[in-house]
Amino acid sequence: MRAVVLERFGEPSALVAAEAPRPQRAAGELLVSVRACGVCGHDLLARRGALGTALPQVLGHEVAGEVLEGDEDGRFAPGDRVVLNQRMSCGKCAVCRSGATNRCVRGAGFYGDDLPGGYAEVIRAAPSNTVALPDALSFVQAAALPCGICTGLHALGRLGVQAGDTVLVTGAGGGVGLHAVALAHRTGARAIGVVRRAGKAAVVRDAGAETVIVNDDGDFSRAVRDAAGGGVDAVVECVGAPTLAGSLRALRAGGRVALVGNVDPEAVALHLGLVILKELELLGSSHATVAELSDAVGLVAAGEIAPHVSHTFPLADAAQAHALIERGEATGRVVLEV
Ligand SMILES: [Zn+2]
Ligand SMILES: [Zn+2]
Repeated sequence: MRAVVLERFGEPSALVAAEAPRPQRAAGELLVSVRACGVCGHDLLARRGALGTALPQVLGHEVAGEVLEGDEDGRFAPGDRVVLNQRMSCGKCAVCRSGATNRCVRGAGFYGDDLPGGYAEVIRAAPSNTVALPDALSFVQAAALPCGICTGLHALGRLGVQAGDTVLVTGAGGGVGLHAVALAHRTGARAIGVVRRAGKAAVVRDAGAETVIVNDDGDFSRAVRDAAGGGVDAVVECVGAPTLAGSLRALRAGGRVALVGNVDPEAVALHLGLVILKELELLGSSHATVAELSDAVGLVAAGEIAPHVSHTFPLADAAQAHALIERGEATGRVVLEV
């Protein structure tokens, strides 16, 4: 099959269009013909070697497509339009039964890290990580759901954001950030976005942000507090080390931050005094559950939230997609069409 293979770590040119062996379907699994795959900041880190990815690897954890081979129980049949959760969870362990399928360690794992991902014509899946896709959603739109929309949906759930809350989103022009702004706004929260480039402010405002702050040195907490009329209730931290200190300063006492993005995957200095004195809550938030993917499909189908895809590329041009994101030219998701 056609695929884009990461054979070494490095620049975008490390992504090479090549023939790769077609995945095999295990008992109880599906094979899915990939029609669209989102490109995530996680993929950029993996390509650079920051995640210790085993090589060669096929990246991509944001897949929409059509079932090629169904499972024995007939839950999915050839031709069904589907979207896949980012991780193949086992669907059977105590963690999966509790609903926290994002924490399962028994299944095949995370696409592009633990098993080959969606920068390819065919991908393995299982009924436990597959959600039916209504005809009204295109494959390109659907590729923004598993991570672009669902990672923010999960983070807002972790934070318990409610109507009337004030929510700060860092990296608000990115794939996760932009949809987190839209989801917070839809919940009835006041959203404040921080972006690095002025050119991204308008699209973040259009997504529902009441205020957008342009800042690229991490020193944005005063502007956020001024806009919020005091500290914010919650932060969706989509960047990581460069913005975390500002996010903690922007929170009110008792505020919560969901740690989502990790652009510099090194250890981070933490201002303990700030966390202790303000009794802040730091919550890890790792991708999303299959139930949240189902919810996201419903929200998009009902017109409650719109996937934002700024650019599409043919699969073979995955390197160009990575380069465009690194130049800071994308807003929302960039999607590969297969
Ligand atoms: Zn992602
Ligand atoms: Zn499991």
